[in-house]
Amino acid sequence: MGPILVVGGGVAGTATALALQQAGLQATVFEAYACGGDDAGAFLTLGANGMLALAELDTADVVAEGGFGLHTLELTDAEGTQLGARPLTSARPDVPGYQCLRRSELYRVLQAEVARRGAVVERGKRLVRAEPVDGGVRAVFSDGTSADGELLVGADGLRSTVRTVIDSAAPEPRYVGAQVFYGYASDAEPGGEVGVLHIMRGSTTAFGYTVDPEGRTWWFARLRGPEIDRARIAGTRPQQWRADLEAVFRGARIPAAGIVAATGQELFVTNAH
Ligand SMILES: Cc1cc2nc3c(=O)[nH]c(=O)nc-3n(C[C@H](O)[C@H](O)[C@H](O)COP(=O)(O)OP(=O)(O)OC[C@H]3O[C@@H](n4cnc5c(N)ncnc54)[C@H](O)[C@@H]3O)c2cc1C
Repeated sequence: MGPILVVGGGVAGTATALALQQAGLQATVFEAYACGGDDAGAFLTLGANGMLALAELDTADVVAEGGFGLHTLELTDAEGTQLGARPLTSARPDVPGYQCLRRSELYRVLQAEVARRGAVVERGKRLVRAEPVDGGVRAVFSDGTSADGELLVGADGLRSTVRTVIDSAAPEPRYVGAQVFYGYASDAEPGGEVGVLHIMRGSTTAFGYTVDPEGRTWWFARLRGPEIDRARIAGTRPQQWRADLEAVFRGARIPAAGIVAATGQELFVTNAH
């Protein structure tokens, strides 16, 4: 049998490759980027169910080493009034609970684990098309190379090329009306206890932050508004986004403006789909 071609080295692609390996099948992962992936600068929170899924693939512990644990969620409204606090518990005593880590780090750890267990991860391979060949499928990449396999698995994310290969009329992802900003700030007030995720929800904005073990504040903001086009995202400098966000949060009774102001170049923007 030929290898199973997995397109996309993100969460789904690496998890698929690990599961195929566990089942004794040979997988090769093709990832478009040389390192990282789409939105690689942003961070994410893996919930207890996500960590449980990773535990099934024997990867929960290595993923946890790449991030830091969260134990409490504190919710406030836009006025800063606390609405509640909830423990973020682990799904099973032997599995790490909620984790916060950079998307690029999650991809790196999972791709390294796939490679460590003997599968090939080929980076810089962007699938442009796929076609049936005798006994399987051929994947063709933007650098002109190709690979043959028995089966092709599309794990290439929101704007999947594989999806359009299978169904050229597949719908495009739909913008859901929220602009999302991420950043990392040093020496931001109010700081706080490591492991607490603070989320403030207003009617048109949400802001969340947590403090990592080195004392840096990781934050995100969601603003209701029109989709920001790719050219503007690529062409706008962090200080401009910072100024825009400070204007949104100035005067608010939550610490968002100060945290945004303490952010340097590490400020990322995306649209929610
Ligand atoms: C702003 C934002 C915040 C989020 N926050 C959270 C969170 O806190 N917690 C959570 O659990 N989830 C969160 N999510 C959702 C989570 O990121 C997705 O569910 C998850 O990344 C989907 O995994 P995936 O493998 O399908 O896609 P991705 O993780 O996007 O991976 C797709 C991979 O395919 C690669 N690729 C794309 N096209 C090609 C191609 N043609 N050829 C080869 N490779 C290709 C990409 O480079 C990428 O590495 C968030 C999503 C967004 C957008």
